[in-house]
Amino acid sequence: MTVMMTSEMGAQQASPALARSLESRCARPRRLVIKIGTSTLTDESGKLDSRFFLELASQVAQLIAEGCEVLVVSSGAIIAGLEAFGLPPSRPGDIPTLQAAAALGQVELSRHYAAAFEPLGIKTAQVLLTRGDIANRESYLYARDTLQRLFEMGAVTVINENDTIAVDEIRFGDNDTLAAQVAILVKADLVILLSDIEGLYTADPRIDEDAQLIREIGAFTEEIVQAAGVAASGKGSGGMVTKLEAARLLMAAGIPMVICEGSRHGVVAEVVSGTNVGTRFEGGHAAHGKARKLWRALSGAVTGSVVVDDGAVKALRDRGGSLLPVGIVRVDGSFERGAVVDIRAQSGFLIGRGIIRYSAEALTSVAGMTSGALSSKDLPGASTKYEAIHRDEMVVF
Ligand code: GLU
Repeated sequence: MTVMMTSEMGAQQASPALARSLESRCARPRRLVIKIGTSTLTDESGKLDSRFFLELASQVAQLIAEGCEVLVVSSGAIIAGLEAFGLPPSRPGDIPTLQAAAALGQVELSRHYAAAFEPLGIKTAQVLLTRGDIANRESYLYARDTLQRLFEMGAVTVINENDTIAVDEIRFGDNDTLAAQVAILVKADLVILLSDIEGLYTADPRIDEDAQLIREIGAFTEEIVQAAGVAASGKGSGGMVTKLEAARLLMAAGIPMVICEGSRHGVVAEVVSGTNVGTRFEGGHAAHGKARKLWRALSGAVTGSVVVDDGAVKALRDRGGSLLPVGIVRVDGSFERGAVVDIRAQSGFLIGRGIIRYSAEALTSVAGMTSGALSSKDLPGASTKYEAIHRDEMVVF
């Protein structure tokens, strides 16, 4: 089917992005990550909405019967806990109350998943993760093996952030990013973000009647980032900005992602069958084979950024090179060697992310210097490498 459609169009006519899009739409995804936002699984009063869980379970059961493997990343613990404690549904300002609510609410959430899936003969498992678990190679690999075994055993695993112990340094902070990291971990074929909004619009559809739904995104541009900046959504912690951040990570990993309205009847099945709903982000060419590189460059929290000149942008994008000190025009933030930092163009546009080989202080003193001008006294530690970020430890978006 894929080959026919592509060849019918003629190799010259089909742009690489279009060909890729057709290819990944036609190849039915086997392993899915479905991320469910708080506003999708609660009703207007902030209560977990049993009807939603039943509808989700019946769609997932159908997909499993057709040979898919499904993992769910679910929000909703905090709001369910607040409800159970009789507290108002707005996020409490004090951390212990928030974490206590998450602890109680997580039980409620699991109960709802089990109640919906068990009558269909499907077991639900629960895994709670922090960013620290993903950043630590050992726990990352354990998590990967456990999730793989759960797939093999036919369970639907429900993952949430471990909100009860997560503090700023190890928090994802939003489940969009968590879903992206989990999808990279399990090498998913597709990520579906169920949201309270139909997709990404060119402007905020609540205030601008000319706002258009963007159907497909093949690459990140400044306009897209701008569109996301004005769109917001309901009760969860992430708006469109975190959804776009998730898409960015997934595109770098070669995994397509669809944002769509979770309350739409049968929406998961529609997305899986390739129907045009919501906004689809194409996965690009990056291969799953680059798993270790992706993990290294993307798993830690970003602690700073380097601003690079146009020559460096070209070298990273077109030639897949390493980032050298000569291309760096500014260093922002304070970080140590080995930290994860963003690479930005002078316009502020995000180009990539990677592991920095200099501390912020050391990098500031060598920024702009050619490799020839760098002497061993400029080099951090015993390293004999001059790269600021080596290409094997960098992802270009
Ligand atoms: N982990 C949070 C919860 O379960 C939600 C985070 C989010 O909405 O992105 O309530």
